[in-house]
Amino acid sequence: MAKQRSRSLKPRTLAAQALGLIEPATKAVVTPVHMATTFVRDSDNQYRSGFIYGRPDNATVRQAEGVIAALEQAREALLLGSGMSAATAAVMALPRPAHIVASKVMYWGFRNWLASEASRLGYSVDLVDTDDLAAVRAAVRRRKTKLIWIETPANPLWTITDITGIAAIARRAGAKLAVDSTVATPVFTRPLALGADLVMHSATKYLNGHSDVVAGALATAKTDEWWARIKTLRVQHGLILGPFEAWLLMRGLRTLEPRVKTASESATLLATWLRDHPNVIQVLYPGLPDHPGHAVAARQMTGYGAMLSIRVRGGEHAAVAAAARVRLWKRATSLGAVESLIEHRASIEGAGSPCPRDLLRLSVGLEDPEDLFADLDRALRAAPAAKTRARSAPAGRKS
Ligand code: PLP
Repeated sequence: MAKQRSRSLKPRTLAAQALGLIEPATKAVVTPVHMATTFVRDSDNQYRSGFIYGRPDNATVRQAEGVIAALEQAREALLLGSGMSAATAAVMALPRPAHIVASKVMYWGFRNWLASEASRLGYSVDLVDTDDLAAVRAAVRRRKTKLIWIETPANPLWTITDITGIAAIARRAGAKLAVDSTVATPVFTRPLALGADLVMHSATKYLNGHSDVVAGALATAKTDEWWARIKTLRVQHGLILGPFEAWLLMRGLRTLEPRVKTASESATLLATWLRDHPNVIQVLYPGLPDHPGHAVAARQMTGYGAMLSIRVRGGEHAAVAAAARVRLWKRATSLGAVESLIEHRASIEGAGSPCPRDLLRLSVGLEDPEDLFADLDRALRAAPAAKTRARSAPAGRKS
């Protein structure tokens, strides 16, 4: 597909056709999985195909990277073996020593890594509430801070950080801004267009969307020195994605937009219904007008996403008991797939987590929202600590 043409096409079109690539020998509309680990030299000893060895070079991986770059309107994208390898490679590609400012509320695994491993490697890290621009301004050290890392919406409170505001702070300080946009997806937020330097995804989640691939993605606004170092680390540390995983990811990417839009519509309905539930004391969802990040989300997102959390009346015990009673929702970690998941998040996150003990995290999938509500409603009504009258089904919904 010519570059000129692909630039004028909408992201949904580019993804649905996987950039329009056709397998040249058979004209197949689905390109094969390229499994080869090595490639033949030309007779004059050159490698004109652009493929030398499987660690840096794989056509299936490159195709998926091309689609992600188009979706993020990035100069280039890279796939890595997991979201964690993408995030850690971005940090380890910074010069040392370096100061990093990062969100207090974010995916706990990376927050833990920043707080423990990063300091061993020569990075000092300050975790702040990045939804508070003044707090970020105060934490940033001119010329010493090399990176501001934010996640928006951020696990598991769905805290919203103002990307444009943080990008301005980063620019003034001479720092880079990286955004974990796993939950927003390129369908709802384009961080690079809002001033970020780098976007990161746990492609394990929405980009793949089917709970069958672990992968990470980075997309860059500029092919600068930082990006070159990230590429070097990926090749030399072998942080690669296998071709079959890349092929599955490509298959998932083709339906990204319809999947996340449908799930987001259901999440909005569920958030509204659950707000009225007698055993729910709070619904955390950026699409609700009373969420603290709603105004910023309305500005920088084109949809509010499919992740929400509820706080259950009766505390931790009631929350765990409610999660134990669901039949349709799957009690599992992770997010962003076709099947809906429920998780008592504090059990996972451990000490130092800002997650309330009574919180259940909900990843809304593609099932009928009425079925999802009915299952949750029953589980919440039966929770032992909550002595409430039996709830009748809201009008127009199944019980
Ligand atoms: N970022 C977010 C927002 C996540 O939810 C996760 C995983 O849950 C990660 C990063 C890490 O990604 P992975 O599990 O693909 O390494």
